[in-house]
Parts: sequence; structure tokens; C-alpha cells
Amino acid sequence: MSPTVYLVSGANRGIGLGIVAALAIRPDVVVFAGTRNPATSSELKALETKYPGKVHTVKLTSADRADNEAAIAEIKRTAGKLDVIIANAGIAKYFGSILDTPVDEIREHYEVNVVGPTVLFQSAWPLLKASPKPEFAIISSVAGSIAAGAALPAGFFAYGASKAGVNFLAMKLHSEHPELVVADIHPGPVQTDMGSFSQKEDPFIAEAMTFISVDESVKGILKLVDEAKREVEGPKMIGYDGTVFPW
Ligand code: NDP
Repeated sequence: MSPTVYLVSGANRGIGLGIVAALAIRPDVVVFAGTRNPATSSELKALETKYPGKVHTVKLTSADRADNEAAIAEIKRTAGKLDVIIANAGIAKYFGSILDTPVDEIREHYEVNVVGPTVLFQSAWPLLKASPKPEFAIISSVAGSIAAGAALPAGFFAYGASKAGVNFLAMKLHSEHPELVVADIHPGPVQTDMGSFSQKEDPFIAEAMTFISVDESVKGILKLVDEAKREVEGPKMIGYDGTVFPW
């Protein structure tokens, strides 16, 4: 049996790095870890050394078409195929209400969080579609739920609006590509740089949420990625622990 080939974006740290480390210990996998600066991605380099031939670092900057196409060409050359993409790279770097948020922040969140996975899919589809079970899993956020996230009084407008776009992208991918399995995953409140930033900035998050470890989140994410299948009505936003969130 040929190995399952994965591409994980935003793999330099946080949840993405945890996903790559967890995949690398599986038998019969090849994992491409996307990072915008391979030269300084020391933890990914350590994984490459520890798992020779199984982990490969590729340069991948969100929304940069040349980067994305070059990464896919490298995957094609090295592994000959691509089965599963986990579009994880994202930013949440401005806490603010609609009135507080500079337009540049709204643009940047949309660029990285929505244009990023869109360009990744556009670049990867010619290779991904040759897989017997092509899968595109997007790491979204309950902050992008119109029913749940938008009803919260706190800020994170730019981030929430971009993750609502991610959820739309997930459903559109399902509708436009009948052979594609799409997963839309909320990783939970996770102890990463982004998790610390949101706790620091948002009193509601700091008080109301219990943050989980990267390992616990990644275990749940990979279970959802492994078990994902096409549902007639399309993907749902599912939390790392199986909770289904309203769009
Ligand atoms: P981190 O901030 O810890 O890591 C973000 C990752 O994304 C880094 O590897 C970073 O690379 C990469 N990244 C950021 N901008 C770009 C870019 N322009 N191009 C390429 N890569 C980029 O975040 P988390 O690990 O916590 O988050 C991962 C995903 O989970 C995100 O999509 C986030 O929205 C989502 N999420 C996280 C939650 C949490 O509580 N942590 C809650 C809900 C959702 P670099 O190191 O080079 O900056």
C-alpha cells in the first residue's frame, strides 16, 4: 500500500507543528510541513532529521500563489501524490469591535485566513484530485459562527468575520467538488501563541474558557480528519471533541 501523503500549513508552531509531530509517528505516511520560513523553522528541521523521508519542510506563505504552486510541485516530485491537506495557518492578532478595527487589519485577517486556504486549494487541486480519497480539512473557529461567535459581546471582529468566510469556503468546496471530502474543524481553545493572545485581550475568553493542550487538540483534530467522509448535506463545523457548532 502506498503511504498517505499529507500537507499541513502553518506548521512552524502551535497546532500545525503538533499535527505534523503526531502524523510523523504513524506508519505509512509522508508529511509535508508548510512554513513561511523553512530556514528558521528549527523544530520542523528536528522532525525532518528524526523521521527521514517521512517529514519534509516546504516553503508556504498564505495566499502567495508562487509559493503555493512551488510547494505542490515539490510534493509531486517527492511523493508523486497528495491525499490530505490540513489548512491550519491563521492569524488572530487584533482584538477590537467593528468601530475599533482598522481596515488594514480586516484585510490582513481575510488575506491570511480566507485567501490563504483558497489559494492553497486552487494550487493543490490538480494533484489532490488524483487521490482515491482527496480530503481538504480547514481549521476554522467557533469565533466565525454567525449563530455563536457573532452573538458574543466581545471583539475579535476581523478574526471572526474571516473565519465565517472560512466556513463558507468549506461548504462551497463541498458543493463544487463532488469527489472531495471537506472537514471544517474548531480546534478548541488551545494553549498556543494565538491562544495566549486571545486570553490576554478578551476578558470573556479569559474567564469563560478552559484552554487545552496542543496534544489534546491535535488528537481530536486527527480523529476528525481520519473519520471525515462526504455527507449529502455538506460539512459541519465540528469541535476537536466532536461538538457540532452552528454555522
Ligand atoms: P499560532 O499563532 O500558534 O500559529 C499560527 C501558525 O500559522 C504559525 O505556524 C504561523 O507561522 C502560521 N502563519 C501565520 N501567518 C501566516 C502566513 N501569512 N503564511 C503562512 N503561515 C502563517 O496559532 P494556532 O496554532 O493557535 O492556530 C492554528 C489554527 O487554529 C489557526 O487557523 C487558528 O485560527 C485556529 N484556532 C486556534 C485557536 C486557539 O485557541 N489557539 C482557537 C480556534 C481556532 P509563523 O510561525 O511563521 O508565524
